[in-house]
Amino acid sequence: MYNKKSVEDIEVRGKRVLVRCDFNVPMKDGVITDTKRIVGALPTIKYLSEHGARLILCSHMGRPHNIFNEKVKLDKKEKKKVEELPEDQRDAAAAEYLEKAKGDVTKFSLKPVAEKLAELLGMPVKMASDVVGPDAKAKAAALSDGEILLLENVRFHAEETKNDPDFAKELASLAEIFVNDAFGTAHRAHASTAGVADYLPAVCGFLIQKEIKIMGDALENPVRPFVAILGGAKVSDKIGVINNLLEKVDTLIIGGGMAYTFMRAMGNATGTSLCEDDKLDLARELMAKAKEKGVDFLLPVDNFIGREYKEDTPYMRIYSDAIPDGWMGLDIGPITQDLFAKTLIGAGTVIWNGPMGVSEWEHFASGTRSVAEAVAESGAISIIGGGDSAAAVETLGFADRMTHISTGGGASLEFLEGLELPGIACLMDKE
Ligand code: ADP
Ligand code: MG
Repeated sequence: MYNKKSVEDIEVRGKRVLVRCDFNVPMKDGVITDTKRIVGALPTIKYLSEHGARLILCSHMGRPHNIFNEKVKLDKKEKKKVEELPEDQRDAAAAEYLEKAKGDVTKFSLKPVAEKLAELLGMPVKMASDVVGPDAKAKAAALSDGEILLLENVRFHAEETKNDPDFAKELASLAEIFVNDAFGTAHRAHASTAGVADYLPAVCGFLIQKEIKIMGDALENPVRPFVAILGGAKVSDKIGVINNLLEKVDTLIIGGGMAYTFMRAMGNATGTSLCEDDKLDLARELMAKAKEKGVDFLLPVDNFIGREYKEDTPYMRIYSDAIPDGWMGLDIGPITQDLFAKTLIGAGTVIWNGPMGVSEWEHFASGTRSVAEAVAESGAISIIGGGDSAAAVETLGFADRMTHISTGGGASLEFLEGLELPGIACLMDKE
């Protein structure tokens, strides 16, 4: 597992420090609708500023066009639309899309983040109008100890996601130290998440440090019994996670849409439930592996099923071996909720990824709610991974009763799969 140097293991006073943050915040009409990610970045930023570093913050936001690049290109969707047009209309349509792309400069600008950050810190945050251009260079060079500069959206350069070495080198040239604190993009090998570490001494910030400590300890050295709860939409999204956790846990609880592939694999009819027919053999293999490893493997015994995939669909409760044709499983039933809750009593460590049903809809949220409650009551070290799972736990009001809600959706899944995360692997190891 990772044992990486952090900001506390390196002398930062008077140094220009490039900090990769996750400021990919939700925006509506130019206003930030959720500041959680900015708040999450504060401990590292405060520490560095208080210790006299000259901070150069960077982040991506959304998926803008590569407008800081000489050749602005259409994105995939636009390209397809243009290609569908009669030949004599294509050039004009492409030109129109490119003209519109210029609006990304404001639409995906990090300027609102600089303002919010300044407000939260109670100190000024300078904003550069580019990433590696003259404005960024001049403002970075002019920083005094403790001052903060935010660069523009790194994805205004297509070289960012390509991890272009020249771009990474240029970005690195702004600073003397690299700090990665963006767990949400740590599973991507991009220029600002990993590439710059080729040119600078690189350490982690407090956010990444916390993520790898809590999730790493749970995987390496769990307080037992160790229970994993997996749900969500599809088995195919979670094969790696199931496989890796089967090596480690005492009990594996399966709910959500993915449960129906397992039920079908056991010979049950599953109606119109989400079921991946090409994953039935795999489901059987995973169940065999659980048996071989002595892992208790729990599937729903009853379900709330609906007529259609619709919020106000007629619904009823039914045992897992009796799902009628034309109905779909949308949540775990009350007997299953009790069974899962009883299993969680006395757990030492719980890792949970994937809602137990379509928890966005009130009629199908009771499974996720009851499991959240049971996890909270269990007193176990509780770790929530996955974007939708984190959102569900928050919406249902259990966020502050969990030990840790990972800040990275895709990154937390890859971590639980046991994969190496490029944005962490590139950092210096502790001696
Ligand atoms: P995470 O983002 O936490 O990894 P997933 O993306 O795998 O979780 O799954 C979340 C989605 O799964 C939610 O949108 C939820 O509505 C859906 N889901 C859960 N149970 C079912 C079900 N029985 N049928 C259809 N969709 C489901
Ligand atoms: Mg998801």
